[in-house]
Amino acid sequence: MATSYTCDGCGATLGSGDELIRESRHTGRSWYCQYCRTPVPAAIAERLSHREDGSPTDRRP
Ligand SMILES: [Zn+2]
Repeated sequence: MATSYTCDGCGATLGSGDELIRESRHTGRSWYCQYCRTPVPAAIAERLSHREDGSPTDRRP
């Protein structure tokens, strides 16, 4: 079970990487709430999205 995170900006419950916006930067990845674009702590975002991270072909219908 993944740990969910409550967005500081809009209060949405972010339970997976699908609900995050990911941006790649030179210093690493930055993550944002897909609803209000409030930054999400990387440690939390990486955990939420680890299932799909590095496995772009692992998509289930
Ligand atoms: Zn939000």
